[in-house]
Amino acid sequence: MKKNVILIPGIVSILVLVTVQAYIIGQIWGQKDELFQIKYRQMAIEALEYYEEELRINGFDTALYMVDYYSSVVLQSNEFASASIDKIDYLNNLIIQEVRNILNEHQYLSELLSGYFVNHGFDGDLTTHIAINKFELIKEENSHTVYINREDLTGRAYKSKILVTQFINEDNHHRISFNFYIDVADKQAIILGEMLISMFMSILSIVVVVVIFIVAYHNLTEERRLSDLKTDFINNMTHELKTPLSTITVASKTLEFEKVINDRDKIIETARMIGKQSVSLNQLINLILEISIWERTEFEPEMKQMAVGTVLTDIVDSFRAGYREVATINSRISLEGLTIKADVTYFTTMINNLLLNAVRYSPENPMIDIKAYSNGREVIINITDNGIGIDKSHQKLIFEKFYRVSHGDIHKTKGLGLGLYYVSRIAASHGGRVELDSQPGKGSTFTVILPLNSN
Ligand code: ADP
Repeated sequence: MKKNVILIPGIVSILVLVTVQAYIIGQIWGQKDELFQIKYRQMAIEALEYYEEELRINGFDTALYMVDYYSSVVLQSNEFASASIDKIDYLNNLIIQEVRNILNEHQYLSELLSGYFVNHGFDGDLTTHIAINKFELIKEENSHTVYINREDLTGRAYKSKILVTQFINEDNHHRISFNFYIDVADKQAIILGEMLISMFMSILSIVVVVVIFIVAYHNLTEERRLSDLKTDFINNMTHELKTPLSTITVASKTLEFEKVINDRDKIIETARMIGKQSVSLNQLINLILEISIWERTEFEPEMKQMAVGTVLTDIVDSFRAGYREVATINSRISLEGLTIKADVTYFTTMINNLLLNAVRYSPENPMIDIKAYSNGREVIINITDNGIGIDKSHQKLIFEKFYRVSHGDIHKTKGLGLGLYYVSRIAASHGGRVELDSQPGKGSTFTVILPLNSN
């Protein structure tokens, strides 16, 4: 729940940031677009003026001449003169369509403007468009004038185009007013190109904020997890320390009983028990000391040449002797003549931890198989048990410091969650690794892989 206190405001702030950035980009885009239109309109007007001055053409001469000729033909046609009221609309449409075609197809401004634009360092890939506002036929005797409805200019088709200017022209047979547009094909790309840096910066800033947030959040949850693990560890440790201590307390009290004082065997048994518990207390305290030493200094094993087969056989033999009554231990060690560079003490701790876990986590008739061989480059040591196994979700985590799998009835087997942590650290410090293959309810195989001497 506490996680959400950070997660939700964090995500909301990121969303706000993204929205603000998107809004700003949208605004900048709008401004750039407007500026683009102003620049290109200005340039188009300049171009038209230039051609009018230099070449004495306004660019529409040919087309307008054709429109006027067409108008005279229309005016003289019988069909037009005798058109009924309902037919007039239809004719109007035909006429205006034809005029639009003439204007859009028979004017040569695209090329002229394009050349002028390129000469002035502008993009020359453009098309021109003409939209008619009003068109009238003028009958010579002035007895018959046809008005044609204004065209809709706010249509979407023209929204993206740049309005350059409005022309009004009157000739013998017609009067026309139309808008002249240009359309620059690469407009979006050009604006995008201009905005690339600001867009990149804003995306970068969002990415940086998101990354910082993720890292901070991850660190925070990690810290919390570690602190939870530490609390667990302290609880376990207290429990572990208390058990031998209370046994010692009870045992020493027993020694005060009159009945016991006279019973030599009982005294020896109690003394032994006290001794045994002191040893395990001592081991625990050493372990804790060791942890703090390992934490403070770099983990540096003393590497020496070691006949790995012999050392491993010794470890397994003495372990087997210690657990003869508890577990069946089989071994196949085929490492004759092979040496590795290793710290004997750490190596022994590592194998012992794995063997001990194999026994501890195999509640019924532990059967432990140790198989060791080499593939020519590495020494491979498999330790397989028939124990409770480890669920997939825990398999990576159990190598972490203080991590313990809690079962329904909480920790049945006592421990501090450090054994495998040391195993993996020792393997890593020897240039090797530990792998795990396990099936809950069936058993586990821990595999230690260490590099052989390269020479
Ligand atoms: P500890 O045994 O003190 O809890 P370890 O680091 O040795 O700490 O092991 C971490 C956890 O991994 C144990 O709590 C146990 O749940 C699980 N585990 C280790 N070895 C085995 C095994 N051979 N079979 C099943 N579970 C194991």
